[in-house]
Amino acid sequence: MGFKMKGSYHYLIGTVVFSILWLLIDEIKFTMIFIPIALSLFPDTDLKLNSHRNFLFHSIILWVVVLMYNPSLIMALICLSVGIHLLFDITLNPSAWKGFYTLKLVGNKPFFIFSRNGRGLWTTLWLLINFIISVVIVVIILWK
Ligand SMILES: [Zn+2]
Repeated sequence: MGFKMKGSYHYLIGTVVFSILWLLIDEIKFTMIFIPIALSLFPDTDLKLNSHRNFLFHSIILWVVVLMYNPSLIMALICLSVGIHLLFDITLNPSAWKGFYTLKLVGNKPFFIFSRNGRGLWTTLWLLINFIISVVIVVIILWK
């Protein structure tokens, strides 16, 4: 699958998920879902830096920092948008847990330097945990 195709796939998932959330959750207004949908592909801009999957782009860290300074539902939804991208980047087939799949520090340098054979598994856990935290953030902001 080429990256063009993969990109539209992330947009499609983002559009479907945020449309459902808008329909189900009163606090989420129609105008709040455009920016999160538009940022569905943000993590893959690391391709332009030749550092795919860069740990900062393929995490919600940057967005959590912005959220801390600008606590709002829309920022929480942006965290969720990136979190959903990360969730759908997960492959459950361990034989695919190498190369492009694994998290990078800078350029092509691996992020999980402590684990030569476990990088794929650590990457899968990283992507999953980031998604879970993004869901928790939205729940917390909605309940406040
Ligand atoms: Zn990605």
